[in-house]
Amino acid sequence: MSKMSKKIVIANWKMNPVSFKEAEKLFKNINKTFFGLKKTEVVICSPCVYLAKLKNLAKKIKLGGENIFYEESGAYTGEISAEMLYDTGAKYVILGHSERRTIFGETNEDVNKKIKAGLSVGLTPIVCIGEKERSENNEYLNFVKEQIELGFKNILKTSIGKIIVAYEPVWAIGKNAVREATAEEFLEISIFIKKVLSDKFGAQEASKVKIIYGGSVNPKNIEAFIKVGQADGFLVGRASLDPIKFGEIINLTENISEK
Ligand code: PEP
Repeated sequence: MSKMSKKIVIANWKMNPVSFKEAEKLFKNINKTFFGLKKTEVVICSPCVYLAKLKNLAKKIKLGGENIFYEESGAYTGEISAEMLYDTGAKYVILGHSERRTIFGETNEDVNKKIKAGLSVGLTPIVCIGEKERSENNEYLNFVKEQIELGFKNILKTSIGKIIVAYEPVWAIGKNAVREATAEEFLEISIFIKKVLSDKFGAQEASKVKIIYGGSVNPKNIEAFIKVGQADGFLVGRASLDPIKFGEIINLTENISEK
C-alpha cells in the first residue's frame, strides 16, 4: 500500500446492538470520540436493518453491511442483494467472515460470487480470510492461499485494488479466542498474502490492496500492529461495541506512524 493511502478502522457490530435505539446511541457516542481525522477512515458495519436510519446521523462515519447474497433479485427468502445494501447508503460490505463460513457453511466459491456482486454495484468488499488453527507444518499457509485463490478467482485485475483483505485468524477472534496474533505473525502473513496476490494479479495491482488485522483488537495492541506489523488498519469486533475503546483505537490509528 502506498504511504499516502489512508488507514481504515472498521467496526463489525455482528448481531448487535439489540434495538435501533441502542444502535443510535452507540453510533452517536462513537462519533463524539474523534475529530478532524486526516489519515484514517472509519467504517461501521452494522446489521442491515439499521443502516438506512444511521446514514444521516454522522457524515464522517462510513457505513457497511455484514453480508450480501450474490444474486440480483428473486426467490431467495431472507437474503439481501448487493444493490439493496448499497441503496441503504452502505459503501462497504464484510464478506466471508469466519462466523458465516462456520455457522452458515459459506464456501470460498460463495465468497467469490459475493465479491463480484459487491464490486458490480460499487461496494468495497472487506474479505475475511484466516486459518482455524496453526499447525506445526505451516499447513495454515496453504489454507490461506486457497482462500485467496478461490475467493478471488476471475476478479478483474483492475478491481483487485478496491478490495480490502482482513486477516482474521479464527483462533484470535471473539470471546473464545486462544490469544491475539502477534504483530510479527501479522507481518509475516501479510507479506505472504501480498505475494499470493501479486503472483495472481501483478505486483502493481496487489500493492493497492489494504491488508488489515482482526482478532481481539484493543487499544493496547494497536501500536505494535501498526509499527511492527505495518497493518493498513483493523477490523474490530467486541471493542467496537464500547465507544471509549473504539474511539481510542481510532485515535491511536490516526496518531501512530509506521516505523
Ligand atoms: C471479528 O469477529 O471480526 C472480530 C474481529 O472479533 P473480535 O474483535 O471480538 O475478536
